[in-house]
Amino acid sequence: MGILIESKPQLSSHEELQDQPSSFPFSILQSSFTGDLLTPLHSSYSSSITRWAINASRPASLVAYPKSPKDISLVMSFAQTNGMKLTVKGGGHSCMGASSVGEGGVVVDLQKYFGGVRVDEGKKLAYVGGGAVWKDVDKETMKYGLATVGGTVNHVSLKYTLGGGVGWLTGELGLSIDNLEQVTTFELDSNVVTTSLASHPDLFWALRGAGSNFGVVTEFVFRLHPQRKTVFSGFLIYPLLLDLGKIDEVFAATSEWWYRLKPGSTSNSESGENDTVNVDMDLDVIVIPFLNGPESAGKEIYKGFFDSEPKVNTTGDLLYEEMNALMNDDYAHGLCRYMRGFSQSKIDVPRAHKVAELIDQFNHPTKIIERGESFKVTVVYEYIPLRKRDSIPVEATAFPRDLANNGFMVITWERDTKENWETAKVVKRVDKPISSGELHPNNKCYIDVPNTHVGDAQENLDHRVRGRKHASRLLFGEDKYEKLQRIKVQCDPDNMFNSWFAIQPAQKRPTQVSTPIV
Ligand SMILES: Cc1cc2nc3c(=O)[nH]c(=O)nc-3n(C[C@H](O)[C@H](O)[C@H](O)COP(=O)(O)OP(=O)(O)OC[C@H]3O[C@@H](n4cnc5c(N)ncnc54)[C@H](O)[C@@H]3O)c2cc1C
Repeated sequence: MGILIESKPQLSSHEELQDQPSSFPFSILQSSFTGDLLTPLHSSYSSSITRWAINASRPASLVAYPKSPKDISLVMSFAQTNGMKLTVKGGGHSCMGASSVGEGGVVVDLQKYFGGVRVDEGKKLAYVGGGAVWKDVDKETMKYGLATVGGTVNHVSLKYTLGGGVGWLTGELGLSIDNLEQVTTFELDSNVVTTSLASHPDLFWALRGAGSNFGVVTEFVFRLHPQRKTVFSGFLIYPLLLDLGKIDEVFAATSEWWYRLKPGSTSNSESGENDTVNVDMDLDVIVIPFLNGPESAGKEIYKGFFDSEPKVNTTGDLLYEEMNALMNDDYAHGLCRYMRGFSQSKIDVPRAHKVAELIDQFNHPTKIIERGESFKVTVVYEYIPLRKRDSIPVEATAFPRDLANNGFMVITWERDTKENWETAKVVKRVDKPISSGELHPNNKCYIDVPNTHVGDAQENLDHRVRGRKHASRLLFGEDKYEKLQRIKVQCDPDNMFNSWFAIQPAQKRPTQVSTPIV
């Protein structure tokens, strides 16, 4: 039977966790929880709150590693009963701090015990825990020569699926959500809901795009597809320091490749299917061509890039799993990071040149010496064929499918100090010219890296993503947002799951909390 909570005490430190009189005291949680509970007094607490971008780490009062569904239910009830903020952590890659919470808050970290992967070879399905990372999925599914659409950096968790999910196989297979058969989620009242097209279809619709808003996702079930053992990829590096003009050659080659099926077109949806290119710009231009095919075909399709004479060429056949680890070093853990997305409706060579000039001013070695701390600006352009994605009706999922191809800017620096934050705020101004002209409401970037019109830059930089008022409405559009609000009020009427593009519940009802399971 539920109990009615009228006012909630606020807890802030470990001592208070121990001492606070409560209808659900910490001692009860400790005695019933089978996973691990870490408070600031534990020796491994510090690593438990450290995130991929170290500037996104926050001093939570409690980090819970649930081992079972009952543990998840216990810790959610504990947080709700005691009026504590709650967040879920998968891979911890949100540099806005969406999977972190400050003093007085609780983190439910799924990575330790909810990272399992099981493959049903006959049905071509993968059952994947809510805290798994793509590396584990690739490893298990490729034992059977099968794959689904995973992330381009394989230490990112499956949570990327909840925001759509694009990867090297998107051209052929669509988004990660387009390959989802089923999602299991834990709601606040201890309800375990298994969603699919046949069961709770509205929640299944909402999870595919707005997925962090409705509870703790404990399992994804993905459709798998036959995958060849090797793919064609690698790095082509063109140094910019001596010759900024290289940027024009590289973007001309990109344009030639992208529009080859429809020469003369300026639309951004005329590409092939199983070929994708990433162009990264910092001190060099680094092109990462991908083909789900053999080296011989890759050399043919990407001829323009080879003709532009890269200084370094590591391309060739490589194992599919290795492909998904290719960029891991560029996105290693342990640095401060600010990321900002933009969208690109066409390939614009003069603008790319301007961007190269601009970031050269920040990245040039003399500037780095002047500042005494390296603030590296990298701009990444992704060219992913979108026809397969766009063959799914816009209404089929919450994900806003009217997004153009994505680009993003990353600022990287080393020490998480107040002074460096101030410098980062200055450096981040480069994003204005980078994204200028691309702020039409339909030109959204993919939604995990908010762009200028989705929320305020200052808020992003300060990691105050929680509860941003208009970002979600803009992102999902009026109709979808209102539908999401109606679904939200059924699952999370108190808006506890509000750390990532929060949906305000349609209307509030008195809070019913289940009696703790002890
Ligand atoms: C280096 C890097 C590479 C990336 N590559 C890609 C890519 O190839 N394709 C792509 O589409 N996106 C990509 N992204 C964006 C990425 O999808 C998002 O940043 C995603 O949120 C990261 O997942 P995470 O579990 O690591 O995040 P976390 O920081 O752990 O969580 C982010 C948000 O999701 C919530 N959450 C996490 N797990 C759950 C769960 N099980 N149930 C409910 N809520 C949950 C958290 O509470 C938080 O609000 C990349 C990001 C980075 C930093």
